[in-house]
Amino acid sequence: MSEDASAKKEIAAVKGTRDILPGEVEKWQALEGLARATFELYGFRELRAPVFENTELFEKGTGATSDVVTKEMYTFTDKGGRSLTLRPEYTPSVVRAIIEHRLDLEGAPMRYYYMGPMFRYDKPQKGRYRQFHQVDIEVFGEKDAAVDAEIIEMAHALLGKLGVKATETLVNSVGCRACRPAYSAALRVAAGKRKAELCVDCQRKAETNPLRIFDCKVEACREVARSFPSIQDFLCDECRAHFQELRACLDVLKIRYRVDPRLVRGLDYYTKTTFEIVSSGLGAQNALLGGGRYDDMMKDFGGPDICGTGFAMGIERVLSVAELAPPQKKILYIAYLGDEAKREALELARFFRSNGIECLVEYKDRGMKAHFGRANKLQAAWVLIIGENELKSGRFGLKDMASGRQLEGTRDDLLATLLES
Ligand code: AMP
Repeated sequence: MSEDASAKKEIAAVKGTRDILPGEVEKWQALEGLARATFELYGFRELRAPVFENTELFEKGTGATSDVVTKEMYTFTDKGGRSLTLRPEYTPSVVRAIIEHRLDLEGAPMRYYYMGPMFRYDKPQKGRYRQFHQVDIEVFGEKDAAVDAEIIEMAHALLGKLGVKATETLVNSVGCRACRPAYSAALRVAAGKRKAELCVDCQRKAETNPLRIFDCKVEACREVARSFPSIQDFLCDECRAHFQELRACLDVLKIRYRVDPRLVRGLDYYTKTTFEIVSSGLGAQNALLGGGRYDDMMKDFGGPDICGTGFAMGIERVLSVAELAPPQKKILYIAYLGDEAKREALELARFFRSNGIECLVEYKDRGMKAHFGRANKLQAAWVLIIGENELKSGRFGLKDMASGRQLEGTRDDLLATLLES
């Protein structure tokens, strides 16, 4: 490799990360705006937590036997010798923040949302990155399956606004601490019988946490997992009734769904409801969002016994199937000739911007023809012209680039025209 090529490589973006450039970022902003507006209709408020946390938080919350914790965390020791981790998901941070600030004592609805980067050391491919972004929502203190149905409906409302079509909603119940041990034992037996067919990782999981075999991406393991018993046959009365209620509520909301008894999701903490919304427009990484209920996490962290439910939506994946109309921009380009006119351009731009007009001035010595060439290239809607005469008279020319119409007036006259257009 030449010196030049290796220098370029050194400063290239890290594998599995990407820049979101102007041209694409507008879609991100539109998604973020629609997400905020939607969540606020349902009583959610934003809660921003740090990007890194004590490693223990995720080991305890996300779960010591999950793939995320065993293989995918960005963990490092800081200069003070603490083990810290870039968050691989958001839920444990919210739970920690609630306990730390005793938000449960505020009396406000405990509904929180957040948007931001997450970090997982996974194998990058289409739809899977090492720094990816999630929109995350969580509801605390409501045990009823109605709230699970409500957040699934909210996810659909948001996806609808984003123009995401052709989705399928999968739901399941993963039981609770009362009924899951019997299921895990049955899985252990089933996995034990076919152990030789499993990958090394799943052979280990068969001993430690057989439920996690369902997360394996190796096709041979997936095939074996299809023969495993269904958790639906092991649910206790309470979990069964909760799941039936979820289904009834989804029916009321006219949300079509499929029960997928293999949907255990990759994290250890789920209890009762789990769900995913998948897209048929994506390849292997087809889950747009996923979530479920985690009734024990707060208590397990040493906090109050408050249940939780929520989901995380992958922004990259949703944007890859979203149909968002690009925002309509109307740019005013200011063309000037000479130094004195440049200063007037600076001040006029301030004036128009302060009145809400998007305005561009390029401080380069150009002739009028070159200015119009640039204005065309930038797809400016209007060009305002400042030359010597305009400076003297305080009256400026304004050209409507689409129709070719030319107007003339003071800055206030032109502002009125621009605001009307
Ligand atoms: P999870 O936190 O694993 O339940 O994932 C929730 C959502 O985040 C998924 O449905 C994806 O849309 C997205 N997601 C998870 N991991 C990644 C990744 N490595 N790259 C891109 N998106 C991801």
